[in-house]
Amino acid sequence: MKYANLNGRAALLNGTTALDVAEASDGKFSSDPMVAFADWEAFRAWADTADFAEAKPYDPADLQAPVASPRQVLAIGLNYKDHALESGIDIPDNPVVFTKFQSSLTGPITEVAVPGDTMDYESELVIIIGKELHKVDEETALAGVAGYAVGQDFSERTVQQRPPAAQFGLGKSFPGFGPFGPAVVTPDEVGTDAGNLRVKCVITGPTAETQGGEEWTAQDGNTQDMIFPVGELVAHLANILTLYPGDIIFTGTPKGIGQPQGIFLQPGDVVTTSIEGLGKLQNTMV
Ligand code: ZN
Repeated sequence: MKYANLNGRAALLNGTTALDVAEASDGKFSSDPMVAFADWEAFRAWADTADFAEAKPYDPADLQAPVASPRQVLAIGLNYKDHALESGIDIPDNPVVFTKFQSSLTGPITEVAVPGDTMDYESELVIIIGKELHKVDEETALAGVAGYAVGQDFSERTVQQRPPAAQFGLGKSFPGFGPFGPAVVTPDEVGTDAGNLRVKCVITGPTAETQGGEEWTAQDGNTQDMIFPVGELVAHLANILTLYPGDIIFTGTPKGIGQPQGIFLQPGDVVTTSIEGLGKLQNTMV
């Protein structure tokens, strides 16, 4: 099942068509895209039987952030071995955790203002939580995942790394720095822990031209290389915090980010982030 926010209304996607949740359920479920997460099990049970006869074609550009206002937005640093190594940092024993502020979140197809000379890309699997979780084992943590989405953790490195101490929250929270979507895809479609999915970042525009082509594959990794896989990550976070339905977690990026290569995004670049089975984001730098 693919759950989306289409022009501010809850929708189910099926191929190139979308079904309006409030209309198709005769008002049993709200048009407010946040409401379904409050009782995700009941919503899924209904969605699994939904009749797509009334589904209509939609424009992907009308998709907004599938979780419009998560209570918490968590992000993980250095969660792929090859990315930790390219960053010159030892493989972490514990997840490195920070937050992106909610105001940075957007839908999948957007324009993003480049705020400085050191804007970087990080293509990531995003976890969407479907149950309140605190002090749970890995199995319970995994069962509490509502679904997965594609995420892009845009980062302004100068702000992020400005002395005297790193400021991940600010450097990663300029407007538009947290696109995700296109939908919340339930685990039955991509594997319970989304643990074997190809993650790609392809750039066209001025940055690709500096790399000698019209199109440049910046990142090509797989979620199977995550140091802390989904169940372990969610259980670790929930051992400290209480996680709430609708919370989202950016899970870290594979190797290939720009900074170690001296490559940074420029106006005119189009960044396409995709994950096998989950879809893609297309973000144009302006
Ligand atoms: Zn990241």
